[in-house]
Amino acid sequence: MKPFERLLLENRAWAEDKLVKEPEFFKRMANDQTPDFLWIGCSDSRVPAEIIVNAQPGEMFVHRNIANQVITTDFNSLSVLQYAVDVLKVSHVIVCGHYNCGGVKAALKKQDPDLVIINKWLKHIKDVYRFHQTELESLATEDERVHRLVELNVIEQVYNLAHTSLIQHAWKHEHRPTLHGWVYGLNDGVIKELITLPPGSMISSIYQFDDE
Ligand SMILES: [Zn+2]
Repeated sequence: MKPFERLLLENRAWAEDKLVKEPEFFKRMANDQTPDFLWIGCSDSRVPAEIIVNAQPGEMFVHRNIANQVITTDFNSLSVLQYAVDVLKVSHVIVCGHYNCGGVKAALKKQDPDLVIINKWLKHIKDVYRFHQTELESLATEDERVHRLVELNVIEQVYNLAHTSLIQHAWKHEHRPTLHGWVYGLNDGVIKELITLPPGSMISSIYQFDDE
């Protein structure tokens, strides 16, 4: 059997199993989705969003990219955010990073001339490093710097969300969503909370919209 064929077989088994346990499951899924959460996570294969929080299909709207970034010129993540906030009306947006993140580690190294596209993506994490350079360079080891930069990157992305007109508008007019910054431990499977910004949280005036 070719490796990809295993996935198709597993899918058949999963669908059959689901039908046995919940005969109405797919009928329900074929209707509209009403997830309460938007999950923004890393693409890393070891951090599968639904599995680590035991969420069922239909519970979370998911966007994943390298190092769980929210970049305000990235139409992909912004489109996901707009759909989740304005159409699905989610109550919570979760940015979940993870320790030992390859994207964060790469951002601490020199730029790789063979990876010109990824360099541009990782540049934003280099900026997070620069914002917190004093703290990060006071740490004794490379591992500690990666560990802390993973956390700081998550917090930065939560603020990036709060700085969008999308979130500020929803905060003002609908008093949602709450923004969460979490980090997942690959070595113990446990998620730690780093930051929570409820609707209306104070943000720097230079990021506020005059007309909101
Ligand atoms: Zn990662």
